[in-house]
Amino acid sequence: MKHYDVVIVGAGHAGCAVATHLREYGFDGTILLIGDEPVLPYRRPPLSKARLTPHAGPEPLELYPASVYADRRIELLLGSRVEAADVHARCVELADGTRVGWRRLVLATGAAPLVPPLPGVELPQVHVLRDVQDAAGLAAAFGPRRRLVVVGGGWLGLEVAATARGFGTEVTVVEARSQVVARVAGAEVASFLERYHRSQGVVVRTGAQVQAINGMRQGRTAAVQLSDGTRLECDAVLLAVGASPRDALAGRAGLVCGGGIPVDMTGATAIADVYAIGDVTVRPVPQYGLRTRLESVHSANEQARHAAAAICGATPRRPETPWFWSDQFDLKIQIAGLRAEADTAVVRGEPRRPGFAVFHVRGDRLRAVEAVNAPREFALGRKLISEDVPVSASALADSAVPLRDAVVRTDTSPPG
Ligand SMILES: Cc1cc2nc3c(=O)[nH]c(=O)nc-3n(C[C@H](O)[C@H](O)[C@H](O)COP(=O)(O)OP(=O)(O)OC[C@H]3O[C@@H](n4cnc5c(N)ncnc54)[C@H](O)[C@@H]3O)c2cc1C
Repeated sequence: MKHYDVVIVGAGHAGCAVATHLREYGFDGTILLIGDEPVLPYRRPPLSKARLTPHAGPEPLELYPASVYADRRIELLLGSRVEAADVHARCVELADGTRVGWRRLVLATGAAPLVPPLPGVELPQVHVLRDVQDAAGLAAAFGPRRRLVVVGGGWLGLEVAATARGFGTEVTVVEARSQVVARVAGAEVASFLERYHRSQGVVVRTGAQVQAINGMRQGRTAAVQLSDGTRLECDAVLLAVGASPRDALAGRAGLVCGGGIPVDMTGATAIADVYAIGDVTVRPVPQYGLRTRLESVHSANEQARHAAAAICGATPRRPETPWFWSDQFDLKIQIAGLRAEADTAVVRGEPRRPGFAVFHVRGDRLRAVEAVNAPREFALGRKLISEDVPVSASALADSAVPLRDAVVRTDTSPPG
């Protein structure tokens, strides 16, 4: 059996980042990065945006060219699935029965699209979107006079709706809640996005429950059946109702997982020398005093950096403010911080057109910023959140006041 100092399972954003950060921290041991997809590790965000296209795009998706792995002595084992991790014998077992030993194990297995238990989800017209193959299959259904029904009006659903419209596709978004992105965005941004999608020709049906998907015309088209009796005929359906952590491997290895692998800030799990990072984890967000899953590239990268530092015995960095972005039509939506515990939403700019920001404040502290085509407001908001300085809500709301002047000076030095 071959042995490595670090074995990483999952060659996505998190797995790739921890491998490269280990070298940046000066780690000199052997590293094996195992991924079940048969291609070089790649960026997932473009799969619902620029790279969701029926035509092959020129932009390479790879996180790094192959030479970077070779230069950094990161061994890649692609197209290989890890079936088991034995934490007593300190080895993993691959699908072909090969065993590989480790001193430290990093689980970075990501998340898988949720498939609701509805009749018809197995039809060939029904898609999910997580990897390059999913994207190619879905994009083949785009084009003028083609009809797409997107089930789920979250970030992924809205991004795909916008991209599909760009190819002339007729798009209907079906959302069970009373508003799109209701779980992940504040009311002002949610209402704005709903109006914007409608203005671009997307049919948005909120408060709508899907009952079944039926195949039609010898399996060439489908009909999405809603509980109010409506039938939406279409050529393709995208299920975009969320993702669940791929924590089964961790569970079989003896980790108690309740909707994700519980980890501390360094990615350490309950088992010594076993780390977990990325979408598969339930992680602390110390600035907000909570533990949650954060499905974002920033979180995956941050956790990877902390885990690499812990493995190398390096001083950990301060936790960063979580942030996320989404591109839809000509909109860039950027969100920093967590809005859940804020008590006041302060709008800066005109929320009926692109170029506004919503600041979520608790007491005199900024807790989150949501910006729509407002990169300066996003950048400064993110800085103010991480500096945890007192701010004036009225100054934040007043576009005539420069944002930096929203900070309340607390100069306590005696006069003169
Ligand atoms: C279409 C799409 C658009 C997105 N857009 C954005 C965005 O705009 N902004 C943003 O911040 N985030 C976005 N995200 C989320 C972001 O991509 C994820 O948060 C990020 O990929 C998480 O990284 P990860 O390494 O944890 O998981 P992944 O990138 O999913 O990587 C996990 C890898 O592990 C592999 N794997 C799983 N089990 C095994 C096993 N047993 N053996 C071997 N390999 C295994 C998987 O196949 C996968 O390749 C998007 C995600 C998707 C799908």
